[in-house]
Amino acid sequence: MKITGVETYILQGLLQDKAFGWSQRVTDRRQTALCVVSTDDGIQGLGEAFYYATPAKIVAHLISDGYAPLLIGRDPLDNAVIWDFLYNWTRDQGMKGLPISALSAIDIALWDIKGKALGLPVYKLLGGAYRNKAHVYATGLYQPQNVPSIEDALVEEALGYKEDGFFAMKLKVGYGIETDMRYVKAVREAIGNDIVLMVDANHAYNAVEAIRLAKEMEKYDVYWLEEPVPPEDIEGYIEVKQKSNILIAGGEDEFTRYGFRELIARRAVDILQPDLCAAGGFTEMMNIVAMASAWNVPLAPHVWGTNVGLAASLQLFAVLPHFPERRYPADPFFEYDRSPHPLREGVTEERFEMSDGYLDIPQRPGLGVSLDMDFVRKHAL
Ligand SMILES: [Mg+2]
Repeated sequence: MKITGVETYILQGLLQDKAFGWSQRVTDRRQTALCVVSTDDGIQGLGEAFYYATPAKIVAHLISDGYAPLLIGRDPLDNAVIWDFLYNWTRDQGMKGLPISALSAIDIALWDIKGKALGLPVYKLLGGAYRNKAHVYATGLYQPQNVPSIEDALVEEALGYKEDGFFAMKLKVGYGIETDMRYVKAVREAIGNDIVLMVDANHAYNAVEAIRLAKEMEKYDVYWLEEPVPPEDIEGYIEVKQKSNILIAGGEDEFTRYGFRELIARRAVDILQPDLCAAGGFTEMMNIVAMASAWNVPLAPHVWGTNVGLAASLQLFAVLPHFPERRYPADPFFEYDRSPHPLREGVTEERFEMSDGYLDIPQRPGLGVSLDMDFVRKHAL
């Protein structure tokens, strides 16, 4: 089999009155970059690149102008060889960030091809499923815009997740400790003590501030504090982790086995959060998972894309080992983004339905989803 083409799609959906903010900025739109890798025997693979704050066209250009010409004529089943080749191609200026997101999308597409060629879901090719469904927590509780009371809006949203059957939810913080504590108190008191509550600062603080926040939040039974400090501040992570009674999570802004080597070997976080669509795709994620396993640091993967990235992340989630193996192993958390996203569901023919707090892991070949091309063309920039 040979790769004959790579197409990229940059999609945008405007949020209208659903613009939302977090500790770094406010967004009025969602975008995504999808890629479709075609082969000479007619199989196509899908991938999605994670981007957060940059226009999706930058990562799409890295795929179409940077990597695509290097892929034509190669065997898509040679995923690991291709990964190393592409990584080395941009290594000098692309060890982290968008070049790796672009590479992730391509790698995901190659695994989709491999699964379709062999008639098996990706998780089977990665070693088999530890689980066939994912216990999902709701990511949401961003800062809504133009509402009379942010706290009232957060409470209403949180009660909605409880009503929907979520066992856990994640609240954005990082607006200053006083504001954060008002939000945490309001949400915790609204949802009661039976729901797991996590918070995410999106690296808004220095270590001293983050330690203070962690101490003040203790009485509200916060399960983890995510990205307390900037991703480059490994010493800060270690300091916060040592002085906090709340678990420290991080890793959505880290890339490849080389980046995660630091977070893992220095024991900078309690919970690792690599994003499949950013950290390097399936090929590299399996390297990261192996390192995490060797250091016994559990993973709760970061997931924040459309149904393409969601389907891919569910395939990976199936193969996450236990940290550690035991008679009654812990059920890992799967991130289910519930923030406004006009493109999330429509891009695929398939829909994901939560049932009793779980999402099923797709059993069809490859990622288990197919693009709705009418929808994709309609929203393509
Ligand atoms: Mg986060």
